[in-house]
Amino acid sequence: MVLNFILLFATAMLAGGLAYFIPSWEERYFKLVLVFAGSYLFAITVLHILPELFMDAIDAPKMGLYILVGFFLQQILALFSTGVEHGHIHHPSHQHAANAGVWTIMIGLFMHAFLEGTLLGNEGSLSAHLHDHSGHDHHHHHHHGSNNLLFGILLHKGPEAFALVAVLMSSLKKRWIFALLTIFALASPLGMLLSNYLYESKILGGGTMNVFYGIVAGSFLHISTTIFFESSPDHRFYLNKVIVSMIAFALAISLEMLL
Ligand SMILES: [Zn+2]
Ligand SMILES: [Zn+2]
Repeated sequence: MVLNFILLFATAMLAGGLAYFIPSWEERYFKLVLVFAGSYLFAITVLHILPELFMDAIDAPKMGLYILVGFFLQQILALFSTGVEHGHIHHPSHQHAANAGVWTIMIGLFMHAFLEGTLLGNEGSLSAHLHDHSGHDHHHHHHHGSNNLLFGILLHKGPEAFALVAVLMSSLKKRWIFALLTIFALASPLGMLLSNYLYESKILGGGTMNVFYGIVAGSFLHISTTIFFESSPDHRFYLNKVIVSMIAFALAISLEMLL
């Protein structure tokens, strides 16, 4: 848990710092990293999170609904965040708009990142829940798989923090950028700690936690598919993006089987 906290926080701070200290970053490299991370996020959602959520006999019929709720919740959060979580960086020509919206961006992005963190809160809780109903011990499987989940979220966290700093740079002073980056970097770790606490203290049962997980899965579907669409706005075929996507899928599949 402590290691996860540090990894999540440090990844966000490093990626944000990168955007800050290398302002002359090449947009096309960022786009490729973004496509890689988005593809990876899509892959672990489909390969890992969804199967696990639907394996639960009790929640399965309603799970589709939670996922749809999460998808539309993310659609609304993206209105606030201006799409920073899917790597949307507005051009400096929109400076006045960004300036007016710094707090709405932070609120939208913080809520997204906080929810995202809940997914990492209790390794094995999903499986413990499964164990109750199916009689089979899935703990071994889930514990290992959750490393891949953590890896996918860390990959996504990089471009997210990078995009946040790139957006803030156009409208804020240095110290404010670092203060806001630190607040953002704490969002997922805090979500993780809260969901861990709520589960461990039995305030929320596995069934209620699954509602959150369904919502996060829906938001991941929204974010990752939006990255696909926005990476080729004119419907052109970009071979390098397809190749990057394929490498991300192959890596996600391999790690899902190996870890
Ligand atoms: Zn966008
Ligand atoms: Zn995120």
